[in-house]
Amino acid sequence: MVTKEGIVKYQLDYLPGHPVNFPVIASLNAWRKILFMANLVGQDVDRYGGAGYGNVSQRLERAVKGTQPRFAISGTQTGGLVELTADHYAIVTETWPEENRVVATGPIMPSSESLTHGMLYVVDQAANFILHAHSPEIWQNASVLGIPTTSASVAYGTPEMAEEVRRLFRDSPVRERKILCMGGHTDGVMSFSRTAEEAGCVMMAYLARALAL
Ligand SMILES: [Zn+2]
Repeated sequence: MVTKEGIVKYQLDYLPGHPVNFPVIASLNAWRKILFMANLVGQDVDRYGGAGYGNVSQRLERAVKGTQPRFAISGTQTGGLVELTADHYAIVTETWPEENRVVATGPIMPSSESLTHGMLYVVDQAANFILHAHSPEIWQNASVLGIPTTSASVAYGTPEMAEEVRRLFRDSPVRERKILCMGGHTDGVMSFSRTAEEAGCVMMAYLARALAL
């Protein structure tokens, strides 16, 4: 559904279901805790109107080859929790950026930022893990740190955002850097890789470089 302003309304088709097998996502969850300890994921009355921020995801095996990416992602409004369990992860089975629509199951509703994770899994087939942090230090220094950044004029949750992510993969070294900043999403940073460890180390390395400026 496209509104008068041209913004596609976020639509979630959610059916409650079983949680993901926790040992499968143990490494992802450990990195999520490190991000939490570094305030890259969290909830703070003084930031973003008190809303939870940051989320993590992991690509899961697909039932049928060639279909949409399927992934586990931390649930909506879990940013403020120190420890997550299997009950805090949703399973996204379909993402439709053109319609701003997400199909999900699991014990909790997925993060509303699932669509951006889904886009990344489509354009970067090598990415198995995505960490989405909120870091003013990295985000404000994106250009000096050489971090590819999506255009600030592209509103979140529009078909243009999907195209903007594709453009970055075409025209910037984002695939090699394994990190991007979201220009229109204050403090938004995503790192991604084949392993949780590499995605985590990329995020922390750029945080250190930002702090050293
Ligand atoms: Zn965010």
